[in-house]
Amino acid sequence: MMSKLQKRPQTIASSSLLTRRHFLSGALAVPIAPLRSWLRPTQTSPYVVVLGTAQDAGVPQVNCFNENCNAVRRGVRPLPRVSSIGLVDPLAGKRFIFDATPDFASQVGELLTHPAGTALPRASVPLQEYLHGIFLTHGHMGHYTGLIHIGREGAAASRLPLYVSPSMASYLNDNEPWAFLVQNHHVQLTVLQPEIRLVLTDSLAVTPFTVVHRQEFTDTLGFLIHGPERTLMFVPDADVWEGWRIPFQQLLDRSDAALLDGSFFSYEELGHRRQGDVPHPPVIASIDLLSGRRGDPEIWFTHLNNTNPLWDPNSHENVVVSNAGFGVARRGQIFKL
Ligand SMILES: [Zn+2]
Ligand SMILES: [Zn+2]
Repeated sequence: MMSKLQKRPQTIASSSLLTRRHFLSGALAVPIAPLRSWLRPTQTSPYVVVLGTAQDAGVPQVNCFNENCNAVRRGVRPLPRVSSIGLVDPLAGKRFIFDATPDFASQVGELLTHPAGTALPRASVPLQEYLHGIFLTHGHMGHYTGLIHIGREGAAASRLPLYVSPSMASYLNDNEPWAFLVQNHHVQLTVLQPEIRLVLTDSLAVTPFTVVHRQEFTDTLGFLIHGPERTLMFVPDADVWEGWRIPFQQLLDRSDAALLDGSFFSYEELGHRRQGDVPHPPVIASIDLLSGRRGDPEIWFTHLNNTNPLWDPNSHENVVVSNAGFGVARRGQIFKL
């Protein structure tokens, strides 16, 4: 059967009602083993911690008054943070963050409490002494604008390692206020070459790869994060799952778990926005494409748009995802590596 993801996004939208009904009935009819739980790490194992799961503009989005946004405004649901993960190596005493979101200050503070039991400092500490590197996926607002906290008005970091693609490096070097951060050595740019593995510590390495995603300002990287026992794949933003320089499925084959773009449950939720403006693989289509993998790797959806019904933990769509053997990433979730 031809995958829905092999069609153009416009095709997905026009058939979304049919697609969804077909998927719901199919998914519920097939028994699939539940996701294995990832144990909390020991104090010595490196791990990834989820620091946020929202699309760039967060929830509530400034012009959004749907139930997802208003439930957060009313305090019925906690304030989500924008999609990001932290990487911790307790033995090496190192912490890294993937993407510098508009919630960067809060997320770095949360990362500083890792590994579990770490007491917060009682006075100012140079940022580069407890955050040892930032990896950026790309130049859309939710993924790099948190760098604003690193300059003179904020942390005034000194040579904080910043790992980026060649095009992201050019973008930062060519545009203020980011160029100021580079020229004044608040950050130390390290240009990543796709598919070249970068060793971070004795236990951790990262392999960047190129993702198909709209390139208004920069290209987009995804990451394989390798620990001593497991590899986690991180792709918060993608237009499609096909046409990648390294095929998406090959990257999944190299992973034990994957945090993937789950921006939209289906294109029905887009309303007045044209899906061609913001193409993402809908969760229902991703599940359809990947259900044959039977949980290998474990797949968790992140980067949820403010319209996504998966924000409601009691929604039918959450049941659909879990019954199909997939998960919705939650802030604080741990992936032992
Ligand atoms: Zn994004
Ligand atoms: Zn993006």
